[in-house]
Amino acid sequence: MSRRPALALVLGDQLTPDLSALRAADRERDRVVMAEVASEATYVAHHPKKIALIFAAMRKFAARLREAGWQVDYTTLDDPENAGSIPGELLRRAEETGARQVIATRPGEWRLIAALEDLPLEVTLHEDDRFIASHATFDRWAKGRKSLRMEHFYREMRRATGLLMEGDAPAGGQWNYDHDNRKPPRDDLFLPEPLRFEPDETVAGALDLVEARFPDNFGALRPFAFATDPEQAEAALAHFLKEALPRFGDYQDAMLAGRRFLYHAVISAYLNIGLLDPLEVCRRAEAEWTAGRAPLNAVEGFVRQILGWREYVRGIYFREGPGYAARNDLGHKRDLPPLYWGAGTRMACLAEAVGQTREEAYAHHIQRLMVTGNFALLAGVDPAQVHEWYLAVYIDAFEWVEAPNTVGMSQFADGGLVASKPYVSSGAYIDRMSDYCGGCSYDVKTRVGEGACPFNLLYWRFLDRHRARFEGNPRMGAMYRTWERMDAGRRRAILEQADAFLARMEADETV
Ligand SMILES: Cc1cc2nc3c(=O)[nH]c(=O)nc-3n(C[C@H](O)[C@H](O)[C@H](O)COP(=O)(O)OP(=O)(O)OC[C@H]3O[C@@H](n4cnc5c(N)ncnc54)[C@H](O)[C@@H]3O)c2cc1C
Ligand code: SF4
Repeated sequence: MSRRPALALVLGDQLTPDLSALRAADRERDRVVMAEVASEATYVAHHPKKIALIFAAMRKFAARLREAGWQVDYTTLDDPENAGSIPGELLRRAEETGARQVIATRPGEWRLIAALEDLPLEVTLHEDDRFIASHATFDRWAKGRKSLRMEHFYREMRRATGLLMEGDAPAGGQWNYDHDNRKPPRDDLFLPEPLRFEPDETVAGALDLVEARFPDNFGALRPFAFATDPEQAEAALAHFLKEALPRFGDYQDAMLAGRRFLYHAVISAYLNIGLLDPLEVCRRAEAEWTAGRAPLNAVEGFVRQILGWREYVRGIYFREGPGYAARNDLGHKRDLPPLYWGAGTRMACLAEAVGQTREEAYAHHIQRLMVTGNFALLAGVDPAQVHEWYLAVYIDAFEWVEAPNTVGMSQFADGGLVASKPYVSSGAYIDRMSDYCGGCSYDVKTRVGEGACPFNLLYWRFLDRHRARFEGNPRMGAMYRTWERMDAGRRRAILEQADAFLARMEADETV
């Protein structure tokens, strides 16, 4: 006698045909459950483009599963029967079908894992094996190590996959070509734009729904040009490999006003929801190098982001457990200033990074790390609020990848697990790597006094405030010596002006 049908859950970031939950289910007997639910769409105020991307891609994926012979119970957000949450939808479908069993792929967020484990149904969570390193691989690597630095993990992953390897040695003789990858931008650069996709009928439906239901969320819904199925994502990848990868390395850290994508791939969302496979993307990039179409520094830099950083942060998130996102090692308490939600600011770099985030749901890594992240850290903003902001505003934001980047790398709130020193800089770094400062009402060259760049003031305030914590850090000694060499009056003036700046910001003045 055949057993009752099981419910095979497919979440909005699990849109991969050979997902472990689908592999474990029986196409003839089991039912696939997919649901657009209010609890997922509202637990942070997601950018409208992010909600639209996920709903559109889910709808297309469900249609393909049906074509492939699956029975799919799909609930749209505006369905009057919608139970409003993933557990609620599973219970409703269980009652409808008599199912007792749920087959799922482990979600990428502790919150949802706990919700599934609490269900009064028999739930089996299969590992999400759409990653290059399994949890066991990461844990084996991490076990017994005093520090969990990405670079060491990355080398191990290069060896394990053979990517960019010549026998046992790294291609070209070096593991890492980062020193070639810090070129400042030139304004005569030819900059390719990412491929854009006209909304089809499915995407148009998702856009209308999001427009009606989330009119007040931060971010522009239209124009919407993201890929929403694997063929489009593949076209976006192919376009990047041909047009941008060769210069990805050189200008990886550069920022130019109005040039939002530079030589970046803009594929993180596609990787994160399952439209692209990370190992396949790395191999495709490697093939560009072997064919002589892209230089090694570009390809190594790109592969390191995916094979190294992406896999590493996932390992950290799951190894550290559910409390990770709430860490606050530096005890920062300030509220996130309204300028992050689009209130006016005189700081051109922040206006640019936040403005493009609102328009595109995208900013590249250095904008996230050295502009919005750097400012929040220098200003002493509560990392939980910073975390919530990043989780909300970016098209690619899912907690397993966002939290280690924000809480760990950017805010140093995990006490130095991910970053060996805080990513703080004065305005000089932003000036060197961008053209923002030329159009700013502050003066990046002024360190104290009228018109001084706030990053300059806050940088020293941060170091001074956290002296006990960082003075002994070998990578920060030079900074402390520079601070000590300044005369006491200048140091006092900097700290007073930094405090005055923060007080104006707290009083909701435009800073
Ligand atoms: C504070 C902060 C928050 C971030 N939040 C997210 C997030 O929510 N989701 C997310 O996918 N990335 C996040 N990142 C990492 C990185 O900024 C984005 O992956 C990248 O900007 C995506 O754009 P791209 O596809 O053009 O990337 P490219 O610069 O072209 O890089 C190629 C790919 O490498 C991967 N990658 C690069 N850097 C990282 C990294 N540090 N961690 C993980 N993967 C990486 C991405 O998959 C990316 O698509 C964050 C970084 C910071 C500093
Ligand atoms: S001067 Fe300072 S605030 Fe203005 S753009 Fe440059 S770094 Fe940003």
